[in-house]
Amino acid sequence: MIRDNLEQVRQKIKDACDRSGRDAGEVTLISVSKTKPLSMLEEAYEAGARDFGENKVQELLEKIPRLPEDVRWHMIGHLQRNKVKYIVGKVSLIHSVDSLRLAEEISREAVKQDTSVDILLEVNVAQEESKFGIALEETADLALSVSKLPGIHVCGLMTIAPYVENAEDNRQYFRKLKQLSVDIEQKNIDNVSMNVLSMGMTGDYSVAVEEGATCVRVGTGIFGERDYVKGVVSE
Ligand SMILES: *Cc1c(COP(=O)(O)O)cnc(C)c1O
Repeated sequence: MIRDNLEQVRQKIKDACDRSGRDAGEVTLISVSKTKPLSMLEEAYEAGARDFGENKVQELLEKIPRLPEDVRWHMIGHLQRNKVKYIVGKVSLIHSVDSLRLAEEISREAVKQDTSVDILLEVNVAQEESKFGIALEETADLALSVSKLPGIHVCGLMTIAPYVENAEDNRQYFRKLKQLSVDIEQKNIDNVSMNVLSMGMTGDYSVAVEEGATCVRVGTGIFGERDYVKGVVSE
């Protein structure tokens, strides 16, 4: 089942690339495995998945040592400053940096571990009150501030679009995030690149790819519905 789902998602990404004149090689599919058991991650790995996304530090730390070392782990959930020390050096990319204080903590820990951490700035493009992320207008300033910190590298932007019935409703937000990344790129800030655009989930990744996503984060479409009711992992 997971193998078929992955195949289908990859095909849809390719179709979206064809429609928009992009190369499918530009798009990384992140399998969002939060709340899912190891056996399912292993099945995805067997089917070729190498990028996995998790939103809880505890769960990440449990899963990382149990999968092969060539897996790239993505922290996609809200990150508390006191948990930064546990994941620096273990994840490939932190998608969810939404404040200077969090970036400062990541920088401090990176320097301490003599390493460098790649991050994205999370932008609340749709201005939803329930969501984390910085305002569109504040993003360039934050990029500039973070660029001056050692051991941390801004690689691009991330957004979580609203939950909608019709994916087309989110096209406007994906377009805005892409435009913002172009605007920031033109500022030529030292130590800031805008190569990564992390946007699109199960309901809307095709539209996100058409609008320039380089990372899509797909959970339900690969692993099926999440069951939070059992309380194994709380949201
Ligand atoms: C859970 C989650 C996803 C995946 O959501 P699906 O709708 O299941 O594809 C993507 N991004 C973030 C930040 C998430 O927390």
